Amino acid sequence: AIWNLGSINLDMIYSLPHMPAAGETLAAQNFSRFLGGKGANMSVAAQRAGSVVHHIGGVGPDGDWAYDRLASFDVDTAHVARSETVTGHAIIAVEPGGENQIILYPGANRALQEVDLKQALSMAGPGDTFICQNETNLQSEAVGYAREKGMRVCYAAAPFEAEAVAAVLTNLDFLILNEIEAQQLEASTGKAPDALGVDDVIITLGSKGARHIKGASGTVRDVPAHAVTAVDTTGAGDTFTGYVLAGLDQGLSMEEAMAQASVAGALMVMRHGTADVIPTLDEVNKAKL
Ligand code: ADP
Repeated sequence: AIWNLGSINLDMIYSLPHMPAAGETLAAQNFSRFLGGKGANMSVAAQRAGSVVHHIGGVGPDGDWAYDRLASFDVDTAHVARSETVTGHAIIAVEPGGENQIILYPGANRALQEVDLKQALSMAGPGDTFICQNETNLQSEAVGYAREKGMRVCYAAAPFEAEAVAAVLTNLDFLILNEIEAQQLEASTGKAPDALGVDDVIITLGSKGARHIKGASGTVRDVPAHAVTAVDTTGAGDTFTGYVLAGLDQGLSMEEAMAQASVAGALMVMRHGTADVIPTLDEVNKAKL
């Protein structure tokens, strides 16, 4: 099974005639609410890829909608705690041309309690996969426990923060990042990805595919992207990551898992939206790209 210490956000999208100026009050013409957060997206992707997924996270007193939404994707929410802190949310203002401005408030995602994390991971063990991203607190504690438990320990270095990666690096089996994050990592550590002491590193390269680097040997394997017409690339990376983890969790080789993830990523960029439209394994298997 997959254990994901991850963010749960409310993405609140407001359509505006134009961006408000300083001091201006502006009525939105339309409002919609979606489940978001890299953590929640990865949980949904791994579940749709056929794995059992336990989400470890938190929502606030206003968190019923997000909690129920995550549970509706058949992700296990037994370890999603309730805190006094407001649910993490993004206020997304969109102009007619599609340009946006985003206010992000981490809220409950950064107020997780160590006792809850320990309790959750006490149920996990060897053969299980652990993943976290950089949108919660307790990342370094979590990778430490996960390693003690003998889990496969994975980290998605997003959003990139040099100190956050440095705090988990020695306990990782698997690191996944996009091209920009990989450049930031190389700049902050002064080391190439294969010299970090991590067994498996994947760098996703958008429409150029993805690269797997074997840590010990430096062996590089490139997995091509599928040529598709992208309409919305939001969530492509989270979908790819969820699919790779699920593939490995279900016993696929890295090459097979990445090939499946590449199809899932391609289908994802052809669709508008995030968690709601992450492709299922059935769609991935039937896709003709
Ligand atoms: P992120 O969203 O984290 O920046 P990427 O943009 O690298 O991640 O995308 C993750 C994966 O999704 C890529 O490795 C690729 O397999 C797939 N993907 C992303 N963009 C495209 C695209 N335009 N066409 C086909 N596949 C894509």
